[in-house]
Amino acid sequence: MNITKVGIVGAGTMGNGIAQVFATSGYDVKIRDVGDAPLERGISAIQKSLSKFVEKGKISEDDSKASIARIETTTNLRDLADCDLVVEAIFENFEAKASAFKELDELLRSEAILASNTSSIDITRLAAVTRRPDRFCGMHFFNPVPLMSLVEIIRGLTTSDETYATIKATAEKLGKTPVEVRDYPGFVSNRVLMPMINEAIFALFEGVASKEDIDTVMKLGMNHPMGPLTLADFIGLDVCLDILYVLYDGFKDPKYRPCPLLVKMVQAGRLGRKSGEGFYKYA
Ligand code: NAD
Repeated sequence: MNITKVGIVGAGTMGNGIAQVFATSGYDVKIRDVGDAPLERGISAIQKSLSKFVEKGKISEDDSKASIARIETTTNLRDLADCDLVVEAIFENFEAKASAFKELDELLRSEAILASNTSSIDITRLAAVTRRPDRFCGMHFFNPVPLMSLVEIIRGLTTSDETYATIKATAEKLGKTPVEVRDYPGFVSNRVLMPMINEAIFALFEGVASKEDIDTVMKLGMNHPMGPLTLADFIGLDVCLDILYVLYDGFKDPKYRPCPLLVKMVQAGRLGRKSGEGFYKYA
């Protein structure tokens, strides 16, 4: 299937990044959000990111302008009706996503593909609210989208081989490296990352080492660019806790139980960078 028109639902952190990479790769893009303010914030984030690419000589001024010109914004989901692919990037809530997908399913022609950028909701369950569960998959981008090359393509139980092949080819056209992942809690990324972060928090909780030393061990000993506690602050401790609960509930396995210190920090509102304090303090 030839994809040329792409709809993005949600103009937030992920939605505007996803819109940007589609536009710079030559796709016509329509972004839908619930109001003008989030759409304006999304476009301004794209403009800021593109000017950084121009400053660094990664793209030309003309390419940057042409990319912006390929992006339309709307508050009306109906305007996405002629899209070949719609990628949903609204907040992480099953009901909100299911309602958007039901509406899109009614609007789009039957060949069009629906994809969700969810980090933790079952793709098979979302696909089941539509009449096209074979033309449905997860397209899990990483933040910041224009800089991170990975896309986990999540195959729900019902995702067809054809849909998978189309989305894989599309991700490659975006200059990304797609990996094929089956639809199980945490996919691969969070299933491997979150237990590591949780274990680092347990090590701190049990007094095995200081936070700085735990981070140093992983940075200098394992060559990670960032220690796990710094990374947890960057992701947001509330997000880490939510994902650990998804793993814990999804597998019913105590090995995923969140460290009590993580629970306490979230209760105290110490959510990491975004709240000014997590394991570290931020100015
Ligand atoms: P965000 O809060 O920055 O943006 C969400 C946007 O969706 C907001 O602009 C909001 O107004 C809009 N929205 C809400 N309901 C809508 C609707 N019905 N129609 C259109 N727009 C609507 O969130 P985000 O960080 O961009 O996350 C979006 C999705 O991406 C979530 O599912 C999240 O789990 C996933 N994700 C996030 C990250 C990350 O690092 N932030 C990484 C990978 C995946």
